[in-house]
Amino acid sequence: MFAMNPNSHETGLVQELQSISGLRVKVSEPLARYTSIKVGGPADYFIDVESENALAQLLSLLSLRGMPFCLLGNGSNVLISDLGVEGVLIHLVGDFKHAEWHEQANESWVEAGAAQAVTQLVRQAARRGYGGLEFAEGIPGSVGGALVMNAGAYGSEFEKVVDTVYAMTQQGSPLQFNREQMRFTYRDSHLPSGTVVTRVRLSVHRQESSKVSMKVRELVTKRKSSQPSGYPNSGSMFRNPPDDYAGRLVEAAGLKGKQIGRAQISPKHGNFIVNLGGASAEDVRRLMELARAEVNAQFGVVLNPEVKLIGRWPSAKAE
Ligand SMILES: Cc1cc2nc3c(=O)[nH]c(=O)nc-3n(C[C@H](O)[C@H](O)[C@H](O)COP(=O)(O)OP(=O)(O)OC[C@H]3O[C@@H](n4cnc5c(N)ncnc54)[C@H](O)[C@@H]3O)c2cc1C
Repeated sequence: MFAMNPNSHETGLVQELQSISGLRVKVSEPLARYTSIKVGGPADYFIDVESENALAQLLSLLSLRGMPFCLLGNGSNVLISDLGVEGVLIHLVGDFKHAEWHEQANESWVEAGAAQAVTQLVRQAARRGYGGLEFAEGIPGSVGGALVMNAGAYGSEFEKVVDTVYAMTQQGSPLQFNREQMRFTYRDSHLPSGTVVTRVRLSVHRQESSKVSMKVRELVTKRKSSQPSGYPNSGSMFRNPPDDYAGRLVEAAGLKGKQIGRAQISPKHGNFIVNLGGASAEDVRRLMELARAEVNAQFGVVLNPEVKLIGRWPSAKAE
């Protein structure tokens, strides 16, 4: 699929992009529907990338042109500006959704493409009789996004299961990191700027399928009881400060249920902001600012966003 508006965009670039097999280019593509919180303006260029070969060519072309780009996984940890995203938003699809399971001697692992949905991978593991990934059940991200965020829950995180990360530099050259080379911290992987994750090798272990499935079901129930459902959101808005919880602090500041525009701090969980329908990214950002200011004023704790602000922000710092 290909769409362009020659009046407002550089037709030469669009033609070059069109000539690369494995790319689908959309111009001025609205992004709200690609995010879990359902807000966000358009990307100048939104590009579905089907294969590693197409990705390498795309990155090389963007680098030659000095064109900015960023990655979008499942959009479950981003807040995209109402003013949209300058340059190219890369969305991995096709080959990047593939997962291959391996077993050799006493070792078992899965090599999962960056666009593979985490929850699908967890369920595949349960069906095939592999344990180790259950903690990630219910994290609505892609493998690439989860790796970048060092996503975790219930006492574990990606860091604990990652064996090798396959990636590309921002110029499109292949790059590989083994476990020792990764510098994971809480909800961060500190990958060099511009790195695009393409595949991840995750360690698993043999375990009875019924036991893995039972653990997965337990965690589904636990998650349902603690997180707001029904309204679109981006998960936890703030990282937990050392020895405390962002949600507890926001609640103690009396902000549960606080609303700006159509965005609301969830009455169920202080670290979730929900879109009541028709919220703008600016509503959400202002609510985040309010929560930070109140928590700082009342408890002297500075909350740092977990959610990534992407795009053109008039008054806040984007990534
Ligand atoms: C209801 C709900 C529950 C959640 N629960 C949890 C939880 O329990 N634990 C937890 O840790 N998180 C949780 N999250 C947050 C989110 O799901 C995770 O952070 C997830 O891993 C993000 O993955 P994504 O594919 O959606 O990434 P996105 O939101 O699309 O992107 C996140 C960041 O990763 C970058 N990125 C994405 N793909 C790539 C790639 N291939 N290469 C390089 N950079 C890339 C993006 O540019 C962005 O900076 C939750 C979110 C929601 C909405």
